[in-house]
Amino acid sequence: MSVRLSNLTVSYRRHPAVHHVSGEFAAGQATAIVGPNGAGKSTILKTMIGALRPDAGRVELGGVSRQHIAYLPQAAQIDRSLPVSVLDTVLTGAWRHMGAFGAARAQDWQAAQDALAAVGLGEFAQRPVSALSAGQFQRVLFARIMVQDAPLILLDEPFTAIDARTTHDLLALVRRWQAEQRTVIAVLHDFAQVREYFPHTLLLSREVVAWGPTAEVLTEANLQRASANVAHWHEQAPVCRVDDAAAQEAQP
Ligand code: ADP
Ligand code: MG
Repeated sequence: MSVRLSNLTVSYRRHPAVHHVSGEFAAGQATAIVGPNGAGKSTILKTMIGALRPDAGRVELGGVSRQHIAYLPQAAQIDRSLPVSVLDTVLTGAWRHMGAFGAARAQDWQAAQDALAAVGLGEFAQRPVSALSAGQFQRVLFARIMVQDAPLILLDEPFTAIDARTTHDLLALVRRWQAEQRTVIAVLHDFAQVREYFPHTLLLSREVVAWGPTAEVLTEANLQRASANVAHWHEQAPVCRVDDAAAQEAQP
C-alpha cells in the first residue's frame, strides 16, 4: 500500500499553503515530515484525511479508504476536558468494527485493555481523561490508534510538549507499527528523533525541498533552503495562476 501525492496544491482563501507537491510515502515504513512553522505540514495531513480539498492535484491512498486512516491532530485541536473515561476514549478507536448500535464487542474491550497495558496505563481504564497529564493523555491517544488497527497512521506533532519518558515509550510503538508493516507519517521537529526512528523524511516548505532517505534529506544545505523559502513567503502572495487555471479546468 503506497500513498502518493501528485502535484498537490491546497489553498486557504485562494492563497496556496502548499503547492505542486509530488512524491510517494514509502509503504509499510515510517516517514517524518519536517519543515519550518507555516510550511504546510498540517495542511498535507488534513488533505490526506479529506478534511481539506485540493485546488489541484490529488492524494492517492493506494486502495486504503479514508476510514482506515488513523489520524492524530496537533494537541491544540483536541478537547481534553470531556467527561469520558480513559477506556471509553480508547474504545472509540474500535468504532468501525462495531455493530449498527455501536455496541463494543468483547474483543474490542480486550483490545482496548491490551492497548492501555501496552502504553503503561493498564490501571487507568476508569479514570476520566480530564484527570490525566499531557503525557498520559498522549499515551491514551496512542492506545486508541492501536485499537483502530489502521494500515496508515498520521501523527501531527505527537511529541510536542510531551515529557521525554513518554516520548521514548511512544517512539517504541512507532517502531513496532513499522515492524507490523503499517505506513506511519509523522510531523516532527526533533531531528535526533527523526534520524533514529524515521528512515524516510519529507522536508517541506510550501513545496518539497527534499524527500527520500533521512540522511540525504536532513543536510545543512536543505534545511537552509527550507527556512529561506518560508521566510520569503508572504501571506498575501499573489494567487497561483497556474493552479487557478488547473482548478477551473477540473470543474465538472
Ligand atoms: P505547519 O503545520 O507546517 O506549521 P500549516 O499547514 O498549519 O503549517 O499552515 C500552512 C499555512 O497555511 C500557514 O501560512 C498558515 O497560516 C496557513 N493556514 C493554515 N490553516 C489555515 C486556515 N484555517 N485559514 C487560513 N490560513 C491557514
Ligand atoms: Mg502544523
